[in-house]
Amino acid sequence: MTTDSAALIDWLASHDAKCPACDHALRGIPDPICPECGTPLELGVRAPNIRHSGWVAALIACAMGFGFDAVVVTIVSWEIVVKTFIARGSQITTDALMILYTLVPLALLCVGAIALLWKRRHAILVLPPRWQISFGAAAFVLIGGVHAGVGVWLIAVLII
Ligand SMILES: [Zn+2]
Repeated sequence: MTTDSAALIDWLASHDAKCPACDHALRGIPDPICPECGTPLELGVRAPNIRHSGWVAALIACAMGFGFDAVVVTIVSWEIVVKTFIARGSQITTDALMILYTLVPLALLCVGAIALLWKRRHAILVLPPRWQISFGAAAFVLIGGVHAGVGVWLIAVLII
């Protein structure tokens, strides 16, 4: 048994804790293995201020924005490919180009935001917990708002 395992067993001799896999009470167990489900156990360090949910929410917001942009760009690009190579003589509409010129930069911005979030995640995770949650919510509102605004603008310009 390692020093860490011995320290874990010593700690569990006098403290209540549950198995992270099955919630079985671990107080007083003789070995660093859950007696109920067999999950190996080890000592760990936790940071109670870290809330991954804010960072993950921001990441999801950017991924959803990119996903939406990518789907629309793919559909519009396919239309351009069909008109150019299959239905020769058919004109590529300025509407299709306008959608591409709007959504491709937006998609690239989302990819840049994802890369920035990934690179700067430690700076976000050390913020106070409320700020982390607010950051995630703000990212969701910002990305969703920009996409909704661009969508409404495109509909207004192209359809109305
Ligand atoms: Zn267990």
